[in-house]
Amino acid sequence: MSSPEIVVDLEKIASNVRALKALYGARGINIFAVTKAVCGDPNLANILVNNGLNFLADSRLENIKNILDAGVHAKFLLLRTLPSEVDAVVKYTEISLNSNLTVIQLLSKAAVKVNVVHKIILMIEMGDLREGVMPIDLNDMVRKILRLPNIKLIGIGTNLACFGGIKPNARKMRTLSSLAVDLEKRFNIILSIVSGGNSANYNWFTKSEVLGRINNLRLGESIFLGRETLERKPIPDLHTDAFALSVEVIDSGVKPSIPFGESGLDAFGNKPVFEDLGQINRAILAIGKLDVQTDGLIPPENMTILGASSDHLILNTHEKTLEVGDRVTFSLNYGALLSVMGSQTIIKNYVNTNEYRPILQNGRGERPKAQNAFSNHRD
Ligand SMILES: *Cc1c(COP(=O)(O)O)cnc(C)c1O
Repeated sequence: MSSPEIVVDLEKIASNVRALKALYGARGINIFAVTKAVCGDPNLANILVNNGLNFLADSRLENIKNILDAGVHAKFLLLRTLPSEVDAVVKYTEISLNSNLTVIQLLSKAAVKVNVVHKIILMIEMGDLREGVMPIDLNDMVRKILRLPNIKLIGIGTNLACFGGIKPNARKMRTLSSLAVDLEKRFNIILSIVSGGNSANYNWFTKSEVLGRINNLRLGESIFLGRETLERKPIPDLHTDAFALSVEVIDSGVKPSIPFGESGLDAFGNKPVFEDLGQINRAILAIGKLDVQTDGLIPPENMTILGASSDHLILNTHEKTLEVGDRVTFSLNYGALLSVMGSQTIIKNYVNTNEYRPILQNGRGERPKAQNAFSNHRD
């Protein structure tokens, strides 16, 4: 066992996928499974595909190539289009989300060059103020897009609760629906995808009797952490503990809770604040900010994270005394999940793999070149 280690329960993820597909599918909503939170992990991509979500969405072409190299049979939606990457975008992905005309023109040129038709979903600004065409500019933009060769506008979408924290409520979804209807009438086109958002759309979905034209969501966090993201509540019947980070204790003992000496700044230039709890049980764990976004780690109930430097995490273990060599298991929030799965220093251990044979990593956290990495048979 290496330290630290992320334990990924593939059967829990598979179960989340099936539950979400059933929940949303029952009311006509298709899901693009978003793999960016797990850094395009091919083992997880394989689970998504094998459980019925064969359209994967990622923001990074690197992740997409990684998944393709591993031999996963998926189609891809790109969430973020870089003008410098259009040639690769039309090569590796079927669809991309777009909101900038210059970028779409470049995609058109790239698609013409290799004689493919690239599909796009046009993102609409609905108040969260990240990507999206302002509704007032929409008709003009669509008119121009429809003239571009080798680009097919297959849908519209929006992204909320991301940058500006705006809720994807019934009102926003109604507006998106009616924009789809208007565009179809005005331009005599069919928009087969109306993508209403992400894991934050759960409350809207469960509370709304009418879903209008919304027939697609792009889900990451719900699948992997089993939560909706407006209030970060667990979704019924989903697993919230598919990922567990196991870390080794390298020192443990009783020390004061307040640093002593002349007070300055910490390793990161901040003035640290401490609460006086008297003498406490402290444990030092072999993980730090170099490995993971430590403030997104959730410790076991009877422990508190006091802080972290680049290589050490300090725990108040309260009544419990940990021994050197013990391991402590943490849950992860979204930020911690991103950083763990992208980390070169954290070993990935896939458990509950049933018939799936995971790609193993070598000791340095690199993936070997995958050859027949996925066979659905046991040896
Ligand atoms: C990351 C992302 C998603 C997925 O968000 P979750 O909260 O993980 O469901 C959906 N759409 C876009 C455009 C994204 O960038």
